[in-house]
Amino acid sequence: MIAISTAEEAIVIQKEKHKIQCLKDSYIKIIETNVSNLREDCRKNQQQLTEMELNHAFEMMWTNTISELHITPLKTYDIAENMLYIITEDMKNRGSSVNQKLKKIKSLPKSERVEKNSWRAFAVYAVKFIQGFGAPKVTAKDDIFFNSVLDECSKYVKKQIRQDADYNDAYCRELLKIINNMCEQNDGKGLHVVEHFQYMHDKFFKKNDPHHRLTALKPAYLATFINTFQEKDESFNRAKRFCESCIKPAVADQIKRILGIKIVDDVLSKCDSQALKDRTFFQYTLLSYLIQEKNVQVYIEYSQNYEQCAKTWIQKYIANTYGNFHSLQLQIASDAFQRIREVLTDPEILACGSVSDFLGKFCTKLEEELALNQDEIKAIVFQTTVPIKEFASNICKSLNDTEEELKSEIKHKDDESVLCKLTIKPEDELFKKVIGCGKQCPFCKVPCEAGASNHKKYFATIHRPQGLGRYRNSETKILVHEICSTSVVSNAHFRNSDTKDKYHPYRDYCTYYPDWAIQPDPSIDASDYWKFILKEFNKEFAQVYKAKPAEIPDIWQEITEEQAIESLKKIFNMQ
Ligand SMILES: [Zn+2]
Ligand SMILES: [Zn+2]
Repeated sequence: MIAISTAEEAIVIQKEKHKIQCLKDSYIKIIETNVSNLREDCRKNQQQLTEMELNHAFEMMWTNTISELHITPLKTYDIAENMLYIITEDMKNRGSSVNQKLKKIKSLPKSERVEKNSWRAFAVYAVKFIQGFGAPKVTAKDDIFFNSVLDECSKYVKKQIRQDADYNDAYCRELLKIINNMCEQNDGKGLHVVEHFQYMHDKFFKKNDPHHRLTALKPAYLATFINTFQEKDESFNRAKRFCESCIKPAVADQIKRILGIKIVDDVLSKCDSQALKDRTFFQYTLLSYLIQEKNVQVYIEYSQNYEQCAKTWIQKYIANTYGNFHSLQLQIASDAFQRIREVLTDPEILACGSVSDFLGKFCTKLEEELALNQDEIKAIVFQTTVPIKEFASNICKSLNDTEEELKSEIKHKDDESVLCKLTIKPEDELFKKVIGCGKQCPFCKVPCEAGASNHKKYFATIHRPQGLGRYRNSETKILVHEICSTSVVSNAHFRNSDTKDKYHPYRDYCTYYPDWAIQPDPSIDASDYWKFILKEFNKEFAQVYKAKPAEIPDIWQEITEEQAIESLKKIFNMQ
């Protein structure tokens, strides 16, 4: 296995990007020379050319220039093929049975893009793939292992695809390294992440392929070319194009980047957002919500994928609080345009000698807020001598229209399409505030709610029947109905992989889990909530966990939903 460090990986990526940038700049230079030659030729022409004639001349020049450039397109990859090759190479020396299985695989399976959350769909699919590839029967323990491998890989993939870089075989090798490391103690097999890397590659290609890029710049150069013949309106036309093709997309992009944070700040500043400020209150609110759903799936998710369960609730909360995000977006836009107007009247930049200096300073002053497209700017300032003050005031005039336009576009967008494009997802940020350390009880899997960020002991207000966290009797497969907070003061024993399958008394759980403080139940009805849930969905849990239903004490059968909710209120002091 080739180990490639993060630093080396970064250098490879930077070199590639630099190469592409240099190449593109050299192409632009040639185009600019040809545009100015054409302009001179047209000027020398005795007759005044019409706009159509200018258009025609430009079109001819452009086509010739592009064909003479002999642009080498960026390399395109079939990511699936590359990755299959790397996996095959890596697994070659793992014995004939693995090799035989590998030979049968002609291509990596494609995942179906059905769910909204495509990463989840992918994860589910990858588990299936590994299952087919590994042992025919997958035990619950394997399931947990696969999930943890997938989690690790997903973290890595998400980090990579967020970069503005091309796919690189190094990523696939790094993934295999992660999987191999995790498999060393566990007999795991393979994995694929094609779809995400293919997306990364396609996006990079669109953005960086020279042919693609130059074609995108063509309208800008044509407009500049035509503008130079319209002496009267030249300054205004260039200013207008600057607003439309540089400022507007930059402000739209800024909204995408910071709306997530604005939503988080705004949610937390509201007085009814207590549930998102306090971990214990969050637990109470989440559990009260889940019981109303009357659906075993939400509880399975609570145990198996707590993060997703919590985020779903947060998303619903945000949707209910806002309905739409128009006002927050309009506010960001107004602030940005306000800032731009301030910069445009700054005496320092008005004193610049050339339009190109003027726009250069303008960009520098705003660089923390706005990412203005430098290629477009180059095409706009190309060969102009318009006076700076006039140009600045023309930008100001055009800016009003641009602001109006952008705001009307914002008002017509629905929040679904806005939310999915945000750089920072508010539910992720808010989840971080209520997740705490993310530790789950070793027996029942309830999440830790301890307050301080560096707490020494993990703590949960209520524990629950351990079977809800998949715990079962290893011989009978019957789900365990005992509750941690009762077990720790009983004479019962437990055994699992941590105890190396040896029986160990619950009351001495600290030997293996010294970081957990599991309080004995303060009253007998404290866990009525979870007793009720296990009794309601006993069969369903057993089915999903591939176990036998818990043997529930008769007295639990009498617990009603009202009592369950009451116990929740009582134990969380909500009365
Ligand atoms: Zn904690
Ligand atoms: Zn517990």
